[in-house]
Amino acid sequence: MRLKDKVALITGGSNGIGRESALLFAKEGAKVVVADVDDRKGEETVQEIRDMEHEAAFVRADVSRSPDCKNMISFAEEQFGKLDILFNNAGIMHSSDDNAEATEEEVWDLTMNINAKGVFLGCKYGIPALKRAGGGSIINTASFVALLGAATPQIAYTASKGAVLSLTRELAVLHARENIRVNALCPGPLRTELLMKFLSTEEKKQRRLVHIPMGRFGEAGEMAKAALFLASDESSFTTGAEFVVDGGITAAYVTPE
Ligand code: NAD
Repeated sequence: MRLKDKVALITGGSNGIGRESALLFAKEGAKVVVADVDDRKGEETVQEIRDMEHEAAFVRADVSRSPDCKNMISFAEEQFGKLDILFNNAGIMHSSDDNAEATEEEVWDLTMNINAKGVFLGCKYGIPALKRAGGGSIINTASFVALLGAATPQIAYTASKGAVLSLTRELAVLHARENIRVNALCPGPLRTELLMKFLSTEEKKQRRLVHIPMGRFGEAGEMAKAALFLASDESSFTTGAEFVVDGGITAAYVTPE
């Protein structure tokens, strides 16, 4: 078991990447705290883990709210005695996120508050807990759009993921000597609710697919496996990395027919 005796907190753990990671981390021996605004799906994830005879608990947390982030970290320590792995994964892609001219300020603020400030707040309260545990691993979900301009405009989302990447690098450097590793997971386009809602028509889906050498969307489970590597001691010399898992999209100049 790759996460035996570890305690992991996963934000956005009710759906998509977070949910698959919660299930996988639990199978690998971790006690898992699922933090999300979706109570029903969060409780379902926790029940599924308990049905497999592993330990898990749900805490409601809106990652854009400081008191919620403070509370989710205390909750993890109270429930399971410590925190070793913090997976700052919650994020949104707003349906009205567009180019700079068309995007409303409210959409920008909401996106930055959840996707970028949410990661900051997770780290703000999570890092002291990791220090109390003697070190640990932080994984922040960024995106391939932090590395490349996207064919479908989503300016607030792209900027928020750029922020996640740069804060990940700096925190990795700051905490390297404290046995805390900080890495960014950069998924390519995935067949999760978040992207499928945004790419709402077949035409929009095809426009994205054309850029992916593998010719398909990725699966949340494939991201969970990458996150497991970053969470576990197998990645013991990896910090400050942009861990790109994208079906080849960032490597492509021209995609095969
Ligand atoms: P998803 O929509 O399936 O899951 C996101 C989860 O985050 C949901 O459970 C949702 O309730 C939760 N959430 C939303 N706002 C929240 C808030 N304020 N506080 C707490 N939880 C909140 O999406 P996903 O595809 O699994 O995305 C997970 C992460 O991966 C996001 O950060 C997303 O930006 C990133 N990502 C996704 C893709 C993709 O193609 N799906 C690609 C690159 C990066």
